[in-house]
Amino acid sequence: MSWEPVIGLEIHVQLKTESKIFSGAATKFGAEPNTQACAVDLALPGVLPVFNETANRMAIKFGLAIGAEIAERSVFARKNYFYPDLPKGYQISQYELPIVEKGLINVAMPDGTTKPIRITRAHLEEDAGKSVHDVFPGQTGVDLNRAGTPLLEVVTEPDFRSAEEASVFLKTLRGLIRYLEISDGNMQEGSMRCDVNVSVRRRGAEKYGTRAEVKNVNSFRFVEKAIEYEIERQILIIEDGGEIAQETRLFDPSRNETRSMRSKEEATDYRYFPCPDLLPVETTKELIEEVKATIPELPWEKQARFEADYGLNTYNASLLAQSKSSAKYFEDVIEISKAPAKLVANWMGDELAAALNKENLSIAECPISAERFAGLIARIADNTISGKIAKTVFEAMWNEANSTADDIIEKQGLKQITDPAQIKAVVEDIITQNPKQVQQYKGGNERLFGFFVGQTMKATQGKANPQQVNAVLKELLG
Ligand code: ADP
Ligand code: MG
Repeated sequence: MSWEPVIGLEIHVQLKTESKIFSGAATKFGAEPNTQACAVDLALPGVLPVFNETANRMAIKFGLAIGAEIAERSVFARKNYFYPDLPKGYQISQYELPIVEKGLINVAMPDGTTKPIRITRAHLEEDAGKSVHDVFPGQTGVDLNRAGTPLLEVVTEPDFRSAEEASVFLKTLRGLIRYLEISDGNMQEGSMRCDVNVSVRRRGAEKYGTRAEVKNVNSFRFVEKAIEYEIERQILIIEDGGEIAQETRLFDPSRNETRSMRSKEEATDYRYFPCPDLLPVETTKELIEEVKATIPELPWEKQARFEADYGLNTYNASLLAQSKSSAKYFEDVIEISKAPAKLVANWMGDELAAALNKENLSIAECPISAERFAGLIARIADNTISGKIAKTVFEAMWNEANSTADDIIEKQGLKQITDPAQIKAVVEDIITQNPKQVQQYKGGNERLFGFFVGQTMKATQGKANPQQVNAVLKELLG
């Protein structure tokens, strides 16, 4: 049976302002509980919220970057609900008139295609506090440091058709908000939190199925797992003659499954109404122009430039452009090494990416600076060492702070053998030592060619230039 998943995401992006969205309290991560909550955050009687203009600028910056409409007039509403970490009894959030509507993000997929994702809206709101269950046995504590932290909630249309599309989109979004310097986009620290809406329908059907919403999934991998689990679960229920309940679910990372939390609330449950304590926010054309001037070259603009200038494919270009640091590293290495961009891109995508991944480091924390890496790439490009030997040199550079490729090549005697006479002599030896294989090769067993290459490389400790070895072998074996 052929089913099509339909997925929409709601992402809470914590904005990197110094102070909270409606108070002057600080927003630093990791402070002692309740040391960053002032009278406004505690909802003491008589206090009034004051809107943080920087939060508005950040939202506008995001809106402009995704080609969205910026509202001339946006309005904060009260979303009423009861929870211990919400002392006011309501959350202030833009509801009917959000600051950003109707944007678009084009996502570069690994298979080379581009997937356009429509952004329904992005609205400003305040975060709630946190209930702490693991500090006082038998009791729950409330930490209000996070109460009032500015959030930009980004809502997508249900445009995703696979778990992979959703997770690649999230990485693209994280790249964007980091470029714009409006959030650090750190999912582990909760500065980017994702709700996943999933439904399934029969392929070809027009109407969407009933969706389940999985709350607060906090890593790219969990987003994929939660979606995959939901798709399976829903298909099984429908094929069994059942119906999907519209509900809110939780993802359990230890079991890779989702569990029902509550039936889905409706907007009317929240009794939204415009917050009488805050004036509507007027955003002028001048302000928009001012913010526009602060937007840097965006990831997809860099990506397009990398494709055009360096002949990279879309996905590789998008990976390199995904963070400012990796784009800078890439361009610095090209500039210093004068090597072909594709060689640099391949080495960054393979060897360097694998080493960084293994130690869970970002390119900004890379133990090999762009200068040192360029030194290695330059020696591959000018044929001093082969690609294979370069891997040995790379490993030594990784483990030895400040070592240069030239030092290591010199010290370990790894210089490639390119002297034709020397290579010919080795190949001749190999041929004399292996008369049986020569006979078989000449008799038509062409696969033995690899054997001769291997023997030659072994005899030279991998240092013979592979192209030259091939050529000489072809010549001598006839
Ligand atoms: P709410 O705010 O109550 O969760 P919305 O209607 O604003 O509801 O939708 C929120 C998210 O759910 C959006 O990202 C939207 O794309 C997604 N969504 C809506 N309908 C479906 C559906 N049938 N299947 C999957 N996702 C959906
Ligand atoms: Mg929702």
